[in-house]
Amino acid sequence: MDSVDQDSRALCAFIRDHPRLVVLTGAGISADSGIPTYRDRRGVWLHREPIQQQAFLEDENTRRRYWARSWFGWPVVRDAIPNPAHYALAQLEAGGSVQLLITQNIDRLHQRAGSRRVVDLHGRIDRVRCLSCTRVHARETVQGLLQARNRWTYRGPVATRPDGDVDIPEDVCRRLVLPRCELCQGDLMPDVVFFGGSVPRRRVATCMDSLEQADALLCVGSSLQVYSGYRFCRRAQQLGKPVVLVNPGLTRADDMARLKLTSPAGPLLARTAERLC
Ligand code: NAD
Repeated sequence: MDSVDQDSRALCAFIRDHPRLVVLTGAGISADSGIPTYRDRRGVWLHREPIQQQAFLEDENTRRRYWARSWFGWPVVRDAIPNPAHYALAQLEAGGSVQLLITQNIDRLHQRAGSRRVVDLHGRIDRVRCLSCTRVHARETVQGLLQARNRWTYRGPVATRPDGDVDIPEDVCRRLVLPRCELCQGDLMPDVVFFGGSVPRRRVATCMDSLEQADALLCVGSSLQVYSGYRFCRRAQQLGKPVVLVNPGLTRADDMARLKLTSPAGPLLARTAERLC
């Protein structure tokens, strides 16, 4: 028996005993779809500091940097496709085992794989809001605005970063003419919660309510270093509900897990769904 098989048998047995799961996913589940994570398996931060919510709201140069990097980085997320881990969770939901899927990812790959009961905890990158009139624009529309207002392109090296971001030089970012709301010319912000921002209370309450009804919490592909995800592990512990981790690396909740499975999410969840559904 290989280690994926062993982990999958353990997870199947756990799900049979705890049939109503809340699942929490993080960047690791989308790594096989070509979207990089922030931290590696040891929990070490891999990239430069991400944009902070307050800086985005207050500083035009920060917004310029964000939109320049997103102009070249958006196609990576837009064109990413779900991998076997996303499909397996959709299959487990259809089979009745997943009560709610909370994702910290903003890439919408769970919905594209067929999951229906999903909370996008940190929002979704395929939508953009006007900070003045609150109108919602499709991200692809904003890509057109970026192209129309900037009659140049950057052909230098582009390193892909998490969250639809790429690394490009500062002087290139400064050339960007910002996209503006087509209706009121207001500033635009992706419909995501940046680092340092807070998740809307009602969104958290929906997740907490579901956790109270569930038998257990299954966390897949998250280092759980961000409090916004980690709080669900703490709440599960307070409620006396077991926490299961699927992660080949270290997480902040390792010491509270009933079960820690270190096989990669794709093969492990695919085999688990195959056995259970
Ligand atoms: P993280 O970058 O802190 O941690 C990623 C984790 O994934 C690591 O613990 C790593 O060991 C694990 N991992 C890597 N490959 C895996 C695999 N095949 N199977 C299972 N686990 C694997 O990610 P995080 O905890 O989600 O926190 C970072 C924040 O960044 C989140 O708030 C999220 O919103 C955001 N983010 C989103 C995306 C996305 O939408 N795809 C991508 C990067 C970051």
